[in-house]
Amino acid sequence: MNPFLKQAQKPAVELKKFIEENSRSTLKYKGDKGVKHLLYVPYVVDHDENGNEIKKTVSMRLGLHRLSSSDGKYAGEVMCMNGLIVNDSEGKPLTDGSCAYCERVKDAVEIKSMRYAAEEKRTNSLARAQGWGETALKKKLSDENSRLNGEMKTSGLVEYNYALVVQFILTKHGDLTVGPDGIPEFSLRVWRLSPFVASEISSQFANVRAEFEGNEIIISYTDTEDKMQLALNRTITPVPNEQKRIVNNEKIMEAINAAVEAFDWSEAERAFPELKGEATQVSRNKMDEAFKVWDQYIEEKKKNPNAVYAEYGILTEVVNPSLGGAVVGQAPALGAPVGQEVGGIQMPNMHGIQMPNIGSIPNGVPAGGIPSMGSPIPDAGAFFQNGGGSNVGNPPAI
Ligand SMILES: [Zn+2]
Repeated sequence: MNPFLKQAQKPAVELKKFIEENSRSTLKYKGDKGVKHLLYVPYVVDHDENGNEIKKTVSMRLGLHRLSSSDGKYAGEVMCMNGLIVNDSEGKPLTDGSCAYCERVKDAVEIKSMRYAAEEKRTNSLARAQGWGETALKKKLSDENSRLNGEMKTSGLVEYNYALVVQFILTKHGDLTVGPDGIPEFSLRVWRLSPFVASEISSQFANVRAEFEGNEIIISYTDTEDKMQLALNRTITPVPNEQKRIVNNEKIMEAINAAVEAFDWSEAERAFPELKGEATQVSRNKMDEAFKVWDQYIEEKKKNPNAVYAEYGILTEVVNPSLGGAVVGQAPALGAPVGQEVGGIQMPNMHGIQMPNIGSIPNGVPAGGIPSMGSPIPDAGAFFQNGGGSNVGNPPAI
């Protein structure tokens, strides 16, 4: 056997395990073009501060940072590690409770402001040259602002609710598919609810005075390949009482409850890479690399007030009036965002965050969860209980 093959081959495993390890997880709930999905939303019963029973989704809640590369491309999401102490199997610390992503949000916001200022100058001069109206200018600035927010090297913390749902396998005509045991076939899925989606569901259910938890719901998708359109143009509605096929059927509910009870959240890690977590040193190295040019600029500026930040095509403050205020050296990308308000970004506070232990969530009840970060993002579960809530002002992260 050649030495490479000798090194590369892995010990044999059971076929079932091999398939499991190599198949793409289907656990993540996803839409599909032109179809209707029938879901049931399992719940756990809890009590509010007045002792009243409340229903909560079987879910966990996590704070994430969204990362972008220096060319503005989406570079994944990572778990916020703030306040999280994790040791490896030998007891050696992997994380120290700090979050390198939180620590860099301030720099990311500063870079974004700088990019915005440059784009604003460019857009204003373009608008003057081409005689744009006030509305067109505002719209362009606002679009650019959103774009630049989305391109920040690290975003502020955004919380997500990962809710367990039951998806029924339907025929083309929308009928349930009944298995050999006489029970309609279903799969457990995890539906990742952003604050935006939670708010969308919440208001739709409040409109018809229905509860999300413990209900049957229909999600209808439009006939489009565009993932964004698929997510934005769907309708989520509760099944009317007289058409319910699940909740009033004891045998189906028993099967569902048994499956939910046996659900292991560690499966979610394969479906959602952001749940993997990282050692503190790994995330710190990643951020130091991402902010290398910025850090050099900050250092240089201490010695030289004319230092330039040369990333994203920005050469700071070097403006040539003969070019109508355009920033010298900038690529001719058009447009600019609206400053001040850093849409959807919450600056982190440094209180300890208790992160749920994904491997051990009894009955799917959120283990701990993240205490309020002083942000306006409510618990998606609480959202559904209250049957309403204001728009949380977050970008439609879907
Ligand atoms: Zn963080």
